[in-house]
Amino acid sequence: MTKDTIFTLTGKCALDNILDANRQWAQAMHRSQPQLFPTNGQGQDPHTLFIGCSDSRYNEDCLGVLPGEIFTLKTVANICHTDDHSLLATLEFAILNLKVNRIILCGHTDCGGIKTCLLGRESIKESCPHLYEHLDDIEDLVESHESELNQLDNICSKSKLMSHRNVERQLQRLLQIPVVQDALRNSNQDHEFNIFGLVYNVDSGLVDVVREVYGNQQK
Ligand SMILES: [Zn+2]
Repeated sequence: MTKDTIFTLTGKCALDNILDANRQWAQAMHRSQPQLFPTNGQGQDPHTLFIGCSDSRYNEDCLGVLPGEIFTLKTVANICHTDDHSLLATLEFAILNLKVNRIILCGHTDCGGIKTCLLGRESIKESCPHLYEHLDDIEDLVESHESELNQLDNICSKSKLMSHRNVERQLQRLLQIPVVQDALRNSNQDHEFNIFGLVYNVDSGLVDVVREVYGNQQK
């Protein structure tokens, strides 16, 4: 059978295919990193909390890490509402329990949430009412950058600009959350704590730096 896709699985795969893929992945991982599963079996000690968009084209793997290095939260358009219990619970667990050294807030180019708002989100109001409401924040972002957007003539560059501005916006939100403020204030030589805002380029695999926030007594 010739494969007409570069991907491992497709929508037509049966559970057996999925289980096969899992076995092959686990075997390959074990061959390349024999200590990984024994180490992870002892518990986790991640150094980083990665907050990204739910998009399928990227995740913490873009940093070349192994399972066990990064605690992750993905939300549509990497929106970080200060009253989002899932976000707050993740931050508390990552910072207070796992004691991560950094948050990487990583948006991405060609974001569906951002493009929906650039093109007019009314089209999803009836069919996806929760998504429509969730994107309030991106709608507001787009409206507040109207003049900057008007200087660009295509959707690709507009959405890339908004991806950068969205990371700035969501990072600013993180800075308003007490557990994050405390972590930055308590940062010291023995336990540094920083926040980096990045944008992942889906067409190159490389990240752009949007903003760096260093904890107390660093840089
Ligand atoms: Zn996205």
